[in-house]
Amino acid sequence: MPATITVAEIESAIRNVPDFPKTGIQFKDITPLLADARLFAGAIDLLTRNFTPGSVDAVVGIDARGFIFAAAAATKLKAGFVPVRKKGKLPYATIEQDYALEYGSATVAMHTDALKPGARVLLIDDLLATGGTSAAAVALVQKLGGNILELGFLIELKFLNGREKLKHLPVRSLVVY
Ligand code: AMP
Repeated sequence: MPATITVAEIESAIRNVPDFPKTGIQFKDITPLLADARLFAGAIDLLTRNFTPGSVDAVVGIDARGFIFAAAAATKLKAGFVPVRKKGKLPYATIEQDYALEYGSATVAMHTDALKPGARVLLIDDLLATGGTSAAAVALVQKLGGNILELGFLIELKFLNGREKLKHLPVRSLVVY
């Protein structure tokens, strides 16, 4: 199905908020995009453009804004939705993956039964920055035997070289800064 909106329209609905949550960060606020029915649906169309319903088993979304896009993409592709959450939030048995932050480290987790071995996975987050979070999510999917077809991001901060951490995997981003 042809996409109904342009990347320029998506970009115009992303609000830059300087110095949030701390000085020096240019926060990309996607709430104006989400509030616009046509742009939200169009963004999902663009993020799922390479796939037809039934060609993906699970859309994996990253805590927390990634959930919004991944869940919508999952219903469109007739796929399941699987959350990658920050450590300590999932109630059942989990596998975990640590990753480095600028200062210190963080841990993401996934339920041990979230994916069947060989599951065809589309991984989605709102924004690719350094790539640490999504590389950790990739590691979780691969630990469970999932087969990542593509990583989709609404936004990529190219100057942070996040793709370097996602080598060998197809990465698709809509708006690049
Ligand atoms: P990273 O692990 O560095 O690729 O960071 C990616 C995660 O941090 C994503 O889940 C984003 O939601 C969030 N993030 C990082 N930088 C920004 C930013 N400038 N604006 C909004 N979200 C960001």
